[in-house]
Amino acid sequence: MQTKLCPYCQTKTKLWQLKDKRFKFSKCLRKFSLNKGKIKISKKILKQIISEFVLEHSTNTIIERVNISKYKLLKILTIIREEMTKNIPDVFEGIVEVDETYIGGK
Ligand SMILES: [Zn+2]
Repeated sequence: MQTKLCPYCQTKTKLWQLKDKRFKFSKCLRKFSLNKGKIKISKKILKQIISEFVLEHSTNTIIERVNISKYKLLKILTIIREEMTKNIPDVFEGIVEVDETYIGGK
């Protein structure tokens, strides 16, 4: 059994794992799912989305080319943008000047 901070009442409580893979907090008895907000897509589609994204195609263009719902696509694009801000190489230190850059294309 593990303890976790309950997102609802902010107390550290024990968790019970339920049969349906969800968890239940032993104190307030609220149930929650760890998979909430997660999106399942294939690697192939993710690669397609990333290549469309770096070519600066609009959301609507990507939806036309990749078989995906707008809801899923917007979520994935948000995750990609977040990851891009996290994984900045150590080479960049102090003040960095950023110019407009075109990646890919002709
Ligand atoms: Zn709670």
